Amino acid sequence: MDTQQFDFVVIGGGIFGCYAASYLSKKGAKIALLEKESRLFRKASLVNQARLHSGYHYPRSLATAALSDEHKERFTNEHRQFVHSSFEKYYAIDRFGSFTDPLQFERFCSRIHIPFKRINEHALFNFNRLEALYLTEEHSFDPVLLSRYYSEMVENDPNIEVFLDVQLQNALPDGVNWRIEFTRNSTLPSPSPSSRLVAPTVINATYAATNAVNTMFGVDRLALTHELSEIAFVVSREFGDRGLTVMDGPFGSIMPYGLSGLLSLSSVAYTHHKISYDDLPQFDCQVAEDPSCRPAAPGICTDCPRRPMSNAAKMLAQMRQYFSESVQFEHLFSYYTIKSKLKSSYIDDGRPTEISMLRQSPRFYCLFSGKINSIYEVEKIV
Ligand SMILES: Cc1cc2nc3c(=O)[nH]c(=O)nc-3n(C[C@H](O)[C@H](O)[C@H](O)COP(=O)(O)OP(=O)(O)OC[C@H]3O[C@@H](n4cnc5c(N)ncnc54)[C@H](O)[C@@H]3O)c2cc1C
Repeated sequence: MDTQQFDFVVIGGGIFGCYAASYLSKKGAKIALLEKESRLFRKASLVNQARLHSGYHYPRSLATAALSDEHKERFTNEHRQFVHSSFEKYYAIDRFGSFTDPLQFERFCSRIHIPFKRINEHALFNFNRLEALYLTEEHSFDPVLLSRYYSEMVENDPNIEVFLDVQLQNALPDGVNWRIEFTRNSTLPSPSPSSRLVAPTVINATYAATNAVNTMFGVDRLALTHELSEIAFVVSREFGDRGLTVMDGPFGSIMPYGLSGLLSLSSVAYTHHKISYDDLPQFDCQVAEDPSCRPAAPGICTDCPRRPMSNAAKMLAQMRQYFSESVQFEHLFSYYTIKSKLKSSYIDDGRPTEISMLRQSPRFYCLFSGKINSIYEVEKIV
């Protein structure tokens, strides 16, 4: 068996794995980037609401709100060509059942110094349902353009070797190094011969598969829950290229999906089709005959014939209540993926990015991400 030596093995080719690999490459390290699928960026880094968080979303978690703002400026500056910053973004509070009220929301925004302007009249919105409407400053990143940018960056970097279609077989400490064995391409009738990598440091950036990889390396698992989630894509001639997020509780959001001209639609009640409270994402749509998706190695939900029926009609019915009757939306298609959260986020709805060193020698970092613009957190630790 061929053995290749690297300084770092990064497992997971979403934005966090790609960013970590390219950051380490700039420091002169040799990196192996391992991805389970045949392409990079097919999961959470592609299928999300594309909200470049300014903090408005987290009135119950000051820490997450402040962290959003901490990285927003740098993320925007370094990804300017992939950020849509010229649309009107509204936040609103539902008259019924919200965890926040106008006074609290305004105090919260002032406390973390994010701008807001209360709007008392607007032809597009239904003030019978909205207790308060605010014009805010929040942008949207373009996941498709980011995917192309980061994929090309790591694939063309001479310090980074990208391995696709990887199936991890085992990982063992061997002195100061990890010895990692994997096969390629699960769709071949007979498994490919094993490959072996050796490196003193591993970074696990596999998001929904975090605990499966931690288990293989013999380190602690994180307490996670997983939601099989749908992001619906809609267009509206009347609403155009604007965004509305209704706060704070079981409401929803419609906003530009980057620069694509589409609006992403999601709702707390209908976006999440199934919930798994297990440490691994375990869903009844995973079947033994399809090895491409298992709790230990989840697949690409959008491409799966057993993905749930779309809830877009229900999401639209819920969101329609906040708009004037003249505003219409058309659903075009939906993407699906697994959204994973720390169990500790249940109370405050926070989305921290947690990077922990779970073994010192050989070294193992677990990078569990909460939001796209916290990619820079890796620089503080590794
Ligand atoms: C529905 C939804 C909406 C969201 N909305 C927003 C938002 O509006 N704004 C925001 O900032 N954030 C949002 N997020 C969060 C954000 O998308 C994630 O924090 C971020 O994309 C995670 O990036 P990642 O690289 O860690 O994970 P991923 O992009 O999921 O990448 C992990 C990669 O690891 C690979 N992998 C898994 N197992 C293995 C293995 N055994 N071997 C090799 N590779 C493996 C996977 O195939 C995948 O490519 C949202 C997330 C979801 C799901």
